[in-house]
Amino acid sequence: MLPAFTYAQPRTLDEALAALARGPAVIHAGGSDLLGCLHDRVFAADHVVSLSALDELRGIREMPDGSLRVGALASLAEVAAHGGIGRRFAALAEAARQVASPQLRNQGTLGGNLCQKPRCWYYRGDFHCLRKGGELCYAFAGENRYHCILGGDTCFIVHPSDTAPALVALGAVARVAGPAGTRSLPVEKLHVPPSEDPQREVALEPGEILTEVLIPAPDPRLRSSYRKVRERGAWDFALAGVALALTLDGDTVTSAAVVLSGVAPVPWRARQTEAVLQGARLDAATIATAARAAVAGAEPLEQNAYKVALTVGLVEEQLERIARE
Ligand SMILES: Cc1cc2nc3c(=O)[nH]c(=O)nc-3n(C[C@H](O)[C@H](O)[C@H](O)COP(=O)(O)OP(=O)(O)OC[C@H]3O[C@@H](n4cnc5c(N)ncnc54)[C@H](O)[C@@H]3O)c2cc1C
Ligand code: SF4
Repeated sequence: MLPAFTYAQPRTLDEALAALARGPAVIHAGGSDLLGCLHDRVFAADHVVSLSALDELRGIREMPDGSLRVGALASLAEVAAHGGIGRRFAALAEAARQVASPQLRNQGTLGGNLCQKPRCWYYRGDFHCLRKGGELCYAFAGENRYHCILGGDTCFIVHPSDTAPALVALGAVARVAGPAGTRSLPVEKLHVPPSEDPQREVALEPGEILTEVLIPAPDPRLRSSYRKVRERGAWDFALAGVALALTLDGDTVTSAAVVLSGVAPVPWRARQTEAVLQGARLDAATIATAARAAVAGAEPLEQNAYKVALTVGLVEEQLERIARE
């Protein structure tokens, strides 16, 4: 059973900000993650503020300058099916298509997908671990086959969103409204690594709402993609995934963004892979070296070393796919 809480459904962004400013409250968008967390007592909330009536946060707009604006309340199904996104920002469309199941893509929003809580089974279960304010990470010496191999530090979650790595690769910017006005931050800075704060997932201040995501106009030569490997053929989170955004001049890479999912607590920029690709011909030798570089610095836990080879194979496969197109 869900615990008791008050529920407000403001009609405008200003009303929503005012409702959040009245005291500690959690934001409800599609509810597909939030309600599970409240039901399972992952965290508690006395007040819930729903964004669902804020039409100003809906919609997907292609701007005259070639950039794209996606409202935080756009559903993942809308993002997946949008023709302009599929044509010009393929990584985002492919990522949205690979999220969960059709029902969840209809209910879940882009904003909620970016701000969702991690799936570590200790965190979701009855364990007062470090992320919940306790002293221990139970995964470190426990069941850790789905945990991270990069950037773990004190907490070894993997960042759960498929759309976040695609947006980072595409250079997207998040627009945020809050009590002090509006601000922008790159989606690359939206997620908080455990080394900074193991109890916080997103860099939003209390009372702030993610309102939309802006993706700059792509270079006409941009090729982008997202693919994840999951344990089951049906809906599942990534064991490992990669978003690519490469600009090519002939077969030479003139810019490269490579962002991993399923292997780190935040969307993980594979900087060494990017450095190998930058200015190189996208041939078999470059691809092999670049793929190996993706796991530079990996520190697998006892049960998840398989993710190292999986990541290398996946990056190699996706670079080969771009080279063939
Ligand atoms: C069975 C299952 C399978 C799943 N599989 C995948 C998967 O394969 N890949 C994947 O990426 N995700 C997966 N998910 C997660 C799913 O995509 C998210 O639950 C969904 O995108 C969240 O969107 P929502 O609108 O329902 O968010 P909500 O549940 O309403 O909110 C989620 C969190 O974000 C916060 N939030 C929501 N909107 C905003 C906003 N605009 N500003 C600030 N904070 C906000 C809420 O406070 C809450 O903490 C799965 C979920 C389930 C239940
Ligand atoms: S990995 Fe993070 S969320 Fe999971 S048990 Fe450890 S501290 Fe908690």
